[in-house]
Amino acid sequence: MRLILLGPPGSGKGTQAARIVEKYGIVQLSTGEMLRAAGAAGTEVGLTAKKLMDRGELVPDDIVMGIISERIDESDCANGFLLDGFPRTLGQAEAFEKLLEDKGLSLSVVILLEVADEVLLSRIENRRRETGGARSDDNAETLKKRLIVYHDQTKPLIGFYKERGLLKSIDGMQAVEKVGADVDAYMAEAK
Ligand code: AMP
Repeated sequence: MRLILLGPPGSGKGTQAARIVEKYGIVQLSTGEMLRAAGAAGTEVGLTAKKLMDRGELVPDDIVMGIISERIDESDCANGFLLDGFPRTLGQAEAFEKLLEDKGLSLSVVILLEVADEVLLSRIENRRRETGGARSDDNAETLKKRLIVYHDQTKPLIGFYKERGLLKSIDGMQAVEKVGADVDAYMAEAK
């Protein structure tokens, strides 16, 4: 099973990803987590990424593609993986399609969590309060920027995956358990 979780920041991708990992035993690949780890480790790539992340901007495609292509070659990805926060641009989606093709692999499904912008803003504010601002990009200003970036750069992926017959949409404003049940239904259908 190789799947992508698509959705705006604060749409519940992290929550659903954790649930899928637990239930289906596949690894979660979160480019945001990997980039934060690189930033914390203080590598050159990590520090470049951190500056952009703190502004709510995207990290360049070549950096993200480098990280992902190395990661999916690791042995724990052999049985499949769940991508959370990747791809985020058409360039990444195209490069990733090519990368998988070269390895003789394909995607099983792309699950889109749909949440209205107003709901996202209040959710992220709650997360910031609950975690005491543990993530340096969790603030109203940066979230607004991240939402604009999502609408401009990531939303075109919806059409990209629809054309390929891979896209499944879920109302991400339902209760967490209901979103989980909808995810399960799509997982059961996917190859
Ligand atoms: P996330 O944890 O997925 O919300 O990502 C946090 C931040 O990391 C984003 O706002 C971007 O700055 C950066 N980032 C994560 N994934 C990607 C990606 N696939 N492409 C570009 N930037 C990314």
